[in-house]
Amino acid sequence: MIADILNVFRSYLTEPVLDIFYPPVCFFCNHSLPAERKIICTDCWLSMRRVPSGAEEELLSGLSGSSIDRIFVMYDFDEQIQQLIHLLKYEMHFTIAKYFASDLWQHICSKSHPEYHAVIPVPLHPAKYREREYNQSQILADELGLLSGIKSNDVYLKRVINTPSQTKLNRQQRMENVCEAFAVCKNSSEISGRSFLVIDDVITTGSTLAACASILKNSDAAHVHVAAIATPLLHSDRTEHQTEISKIFL
Ligand SMILES: [Zn+2]
Repeated sequence: MIADILNVFRSYLTEPVLDIFYPPVCFFCNHSLPAERKIICTDCWLSMRRVPSGAEEELLSGLSGSSIDRIFVMYDFDEQIQQLIHLLKYEMHFTIAKYFASDLWQHICSKSHPEYHAVIPVPLHPAKYREREYNQSQILADELGLLSGIKSNDVYLKRVINTPSQTKLNRQQRMENVCEAFAVCKNSSEISGRSFLVIDDVITTGSTLAACASILKNSDAAHVHVAAIATPLLHSDRTEHQTEISKIFL
């Protein structure tokens, strides 16, 4: 609770302070930003590479046998997106989450008629949370909650195993590594028959989101949709690319 309150203050206090180090010019093109815009100009934002049509279905079919009913993902995980997610994940630029959440929610509404009981962030293990001080997926989920009017709730899932680095593991090994990592922290009656949207920042292999979906389905969730900002899984050189991402993000 204290950490959540600190995060609220941080979102108001740190970005002006960070503006000193990152003056109000676009992070990518260096053009001046209008007062209502932070970090990245609209032109650069709109030029970011979206995943192609049909990509989400392709990702889902690659996770056949998982409990995920639907995947929403916006961007190809290229260098530009990687830099923005790094700002969100490690440098407390929470405005980035606002922009990504806005895109994601528009995208989800354009493809479905969402009726989620809650938006659930992929949880961090408490030890990692203490180390990082905030969970970027929770920041994203909170922004989605504000936009959608659906409550964002981190009390449904908890991470019970602090999974070691998965850098050297292949997809199957990563699946096995995370499948026991999560647990529900609600009575099944609060999950049973309800639909949920689970949020992560990046779909690296899909193993983490598949594990979250599985644990919710074990408590009889009706539908589990997952959403993320970006994925590297559509790169033709995906194995090499994934390894690079693992080094950065795990
Ligand atoms: Zn720009």
